[in-house]
Amino acid sequence: MYPIANQFILSMTIFQENISLKPYNTFSIPVSSHYFAEVFSSSALEELLKSELIKEQQLLILGGGSNLLFTKDFDGLVIKMSIPGISEEIHGDEVIVTAGAGVVWNDFVNYCVQKGFAGVENLSLIPGTVGASPIQNIGAYGVELKDVFESCSAYEIATGKRRSFNHQDCRFGYRDSIFKNELKGQYIITEVSFRLSRVASINTQYGAIQEELVKRGIAHPTIADVSAVVSHIRVSKLPDPSTIGNAGSFFKNPVIEEDAFQKIFEKFPELVHYPAGNGKVKLAAGWLIEQCGFKGKVVGQTGTWKNQALVLVNHGQASGQEVYSFSENIIDTVAARFGVRLEREVNIL
Ligand SMILES: Cc1cc2nc3c(=O)[nH]c(=O)nc-3n(C[C@H](O)[C@H](O)[C@H](O)COP(=O)(O)OP(=O)(O)OC[C@H]3O[C@@H](n4cnc5c(N)ncnc54)[C@H](O)[C@@H]3O)c2cc1C
Repeated sequence: MYPIANQFILSMTIFQENISLKPYNTFSIPVSSHYFAEVFSSSALEELLKSELIKEQQLLILGGGSNLLFTKDFDGLVIKMSIPGISEEIHGDEVIVTAGAGVVWNDFVNYCVQKGFAGVENLSLIPGTVGASPIQNIGAYGVELKDVFESCSAYEIATGKRRSFNHQDCRFGYRDSIFKNELKGQYIITEVSFRLSRVASINTQYGAIQEELVKRGIAHPTIADVSAVVSHIRVSKLPDPSTIGNAGSFFKNPVIEEDAFQKIFEKFPELVHYPAGNGKVKLAAGWLIEQCGFKGKVVGQTGTWKNQALVLVNHGQASGQEVYSFSENIIDTVAARFGVRLEREVNIL
């Protein structure tokens, strides 16, 4: 490794010093990172993990920065995952599609839709990268990543060893996986494989998709139709991070026991809820927040989105700490009114 101005070159990777992370997080929080390295291949990552510099550093693995809230400068090394590439293997009616961790999720979805590979069309337009998709088992419009996940390859940070994770290994749950629990911060995902279908089985059970298809006069939708409809709905409901900083849903929908649900339901019969299996009930966090008067609320430079109280936004100059404090206020207010403590979906740093 040798230095050039505020950069260090390790044969395949450039380290930069004191880099602003504002362009690298969708909340547009203006924090900086001590070191920053962008990785374009598995071999570059392997080399990086063996290098001395990494040993003394606190690490942050970064995809598209769309599920993070920085509350302070990052005093370590950010590894931005930019491994490209998509390939496929056809097995009869099924196809295994493998994509590099740095592939933009929606580019991957578009690739599959164009090729007629069904399974990810309901996940159109979710921001972020393929490499981050298993971390919180991304989901939308009745489909979760776990429904199409085949396996992923990852490097263990401590040993630099490569390991493959199958479906069972990942222990997927609602916005959850082993990578957010037992193995939190221990592995770097380099590529993900998906089992998709060449025979479309369209999932339009979600009310909003059906309504939009009817509006468009589409009786027999293709996966391209579903992708277009989902994208349309998302654009109309969610703020675009390129114009207003946000990280999508800030909180998870709380999943509670049936008994606890009944007690709240007696007091609030209009409570929006869904069956969650195993005698549990999922509550709509957006509804709980809205009932507490937070929808569209502006507090200093932060607030909630006017069309969806679950989304916290940066009105331009918010600090991460300001957004975090506002989220605390929401959690406390919802807990006082409904007796349910919201859990953050966004990773706080
Ligand atoms: C407008 C908007 C709408 C959204 N809608 C949805 C939605 O409908 N459904 C949904 O599930 N999510 C949604 N999200 C959240 C977000 O898009 C997903 O969580 C996405 O998977 C994050 O990807 P990322 O690459 O940006 O990850 P980042 O934010 O960069 O990272 C997220 C976490 O994953 C870790 N990580 C990232 N890459 C890797 C890797 N290669 N290996 C190991 N760890 C890694 C990071 O360290 C961090 O802990 C939305 C976000 C926004 C801004």
